[in-house]
Amino acid sequence: MRYMIFSDIHGNLDALERVIEEIDMLRPDMIVCLGDVVGYGANPRECVEIVEEYTHIRIGGNHDLATIGLTDSSDFNLAAKRSISWTERTLDPSHREMLERYASMKRYNRCIFAHATPISPLSWEYIYTVSQARNIFKNFREKFIFIGHTHVPGIIAYEQNNPCTVVRDSMVTTKPESRYLVNVGSVGQPRDGDPRASYAIYDNKTGLVRLYRVEYNIKETQDRMMRCGLPIRLIARLERGL
Ligand code: ZN
Repeated sequence: MRYMIFSDIHGNLDALERVIEEIDMLRPDMIVCLGDVVGYGANPRECVEIVEEYTHIRIGGNHDLATIGLTDSSDFNLAAKRSISWTERTLDPSHREMLERYASMKRYNRCIFAHATPISPLSWEYIYTVSQARNIFKNFREKFIFIGHTHVPGIIAYEQNNPCTVVRDSMVTTKPESRYLVNVGSVGQPRDGDPRASYAIYDNKTGLVRLYRVEYNIKETQDRMMRCGLPIRLIARLERGL
């Protein structure tokens, strides 16, 4: 079975459409969205609808839940708060109902799918370090933990004699005795210095996990955001991928 996993679309329709186009080529059996479908970007309605149509598992992110009032957004920065209230006004009740149904995390077939830390999903802890990853591995037995939230893609391996190492490649042939934490990065607002949309493919037959990047029309996305009056800081950061 082949999984396509993506996260953090943030209302960026051009980037999401480019990732969805890849489905024809990669033919995944299962498509998983790890949350933050809305917030920051100009097309939250279309993104919620596309995610509803194409994905099999949907996890709620902090921006999704803040938009429908189900998580506290008081620690969001000013630009994020402004975009959340704009998103709130833009969505219909039907979109809100879709967001309400997103899971806080999901266990499926030796995998865990979560937005941030699966240990306590609603704490929204950002997972950046090997010691945080080690703590997650200790709390679960599943072979794969797929997360998003930081907008920085990466793979950490937990091996028996060499606990927790960062995989220095965008691709790994997984070993039967090892376990993996995979951050799938962000479709709509990457923050690792590469502005291209990010997603992951995991094939449980070959054992291959691969992080992909795909270019999209950033200029068009910025023009859309400009027309919606969204904060300049959010518009400018897209072309730098930071
Ligand atoms: Zn996010």
